[in-house]
Amino acid sequence: MTASSCFKHTKQQFHLPEDLVYLDGNSLGPLPLAATEKVSATLEQEWGELLIQGWNKAGWMAAPSKTGDRLATMLGAPAGSIVMGDTLSIKVFQAVDAAMDLVPDRAVVLSDSGNFPTDLYMVEGLLKNRSAGKLKVVEPEHLASAIDPSVAVVLLTGVDYRTGRLHDTASIVKKAHAVGATVVLDLAHSAGAIPVNLHDENPDFAVGCTYKYLNGGPGAPAFIYVAPRHQQRIRPALSGWLGHAAPFAFDQHYTPADGVERMRVGTPPVVALSILDAALDIWEQVSMDAVRQASIKLSEQFIAGVESQCPELVLASPRDAQQRGSQVSFRHPEGYAIVQALISAGVVGDFRAPDILRFGFTPLYLDSDDVAKAVERLALIMREGRWDQPHFKIKAAVT
Ligand SMILES: *Cc1c(COP(=O)(O)O)cnc(C)c1O
Repeated sequence: MTASSCFKHTKQQFHLPEDLVYLDGNSLGPLPLAATEKVSATLEQEWGELLIQGWNKAGWMAAPSKTGDRLATMLGAPAGSIVMGDTLSIKVFQAVDAAMDLVPDRAVVLSDSGNFPTDLYMVEGLLKNRSAGKLKVVEPEHLASAIDPSVAVVLLTGVDYRTGRLHDTASIVKKAHAVGATVVLDLAHSAGAIPVNLHDENPDFAVGCTYKYLNGGPGAPAFIYVAPRHQQRIRPALSGWLGHAAPFAFDQHYTPADGVERMRVGTPPVVALSILDAALDIWEQVSMDAVRQASIKLSEQFIAGVESQCPELVLASPRDAQQRGSQVSFRHPEGYAIVQALISAGVVGDFRAPDILRFGFTPLYLDSDDVAKAVERLALIMREGRWDQPHFKIKAAVT
């Protein structure tokens, strides 16, 4: 079976607007068709009929761990090591705080300037509430060499959100562990994009969102992984009642739940979890290695097409596919206007300041005909300067 024939079946399971080439699944995945039915069932048969009994009878209370276990299978982690909830920013806060506790004699959180800003912001906020702590941010190329015995936590985002550059996660984890540091791995642009094996990569914590490559929908819940060796030692910073050992005992004081469950905070997003379950039903039909191979093929086709037909666009991603995640970026000083013109021509990518045009490659619902169409439309816009119009230069709130 060729890569393209093996994904025809999954493409049919998404809603994609007519004649649109969607190259932004790295930012917000499309709607799985089965989600509508799943959500209706959650609303009508569960919420509608069961009302508050849904917590017990429809398994709502257990949903964050149940869905977490499905993700664990996909990410090479054991059952009982991942739990869903909140947004990724919150999960970064929880993981970094817990990771710092594991190395109490050190205060440095090390990250790199290619990291997504919210991860750094959350650490800034977290350190405000700790007696000692310093965020050290280095260039991505210098991250590995900056790991020394002063470092408590390496906060590592596997794929650079702007350029798609891949970090060598396993070797950074090894280096960190060798000097007694811990690692929080952010999988926002890795889960559903590249094969991930948490057992082999061996971070102490991992976090990620599910609305990007995983197609869980806008505002889909995030996930957190805690390595089994640490689970019983963590004292959660966000000690909410649903991370308590006995939430319905209504004790005056907090006692952490068993294992990763203690990373739960408050009421789980039941409706959003049912959408994510529909998306995971599709993921469970494919192998991540096949997805990776297909994504490399599509990316290579796109790079070759753009470079031959749009010489003004400069590749910002690593040329070597093994050094890239599942996205390709180009630079151009008028990148924003070009992306707007492209969107109006039915090819959706996005723009990241100051000059990055970003395109995600998602084989579950994207094939080589789509990529050919995208290249053709982009080439026309560049050749005829169609982007150079005032209305393409007005910045919207979300770029
Ligand atoms: C997308 C992304 C986020 C988003 O955080 P939310 O709290 O879900 O808005 C955080 N970190 C990284 C690395 C991301 O790529």
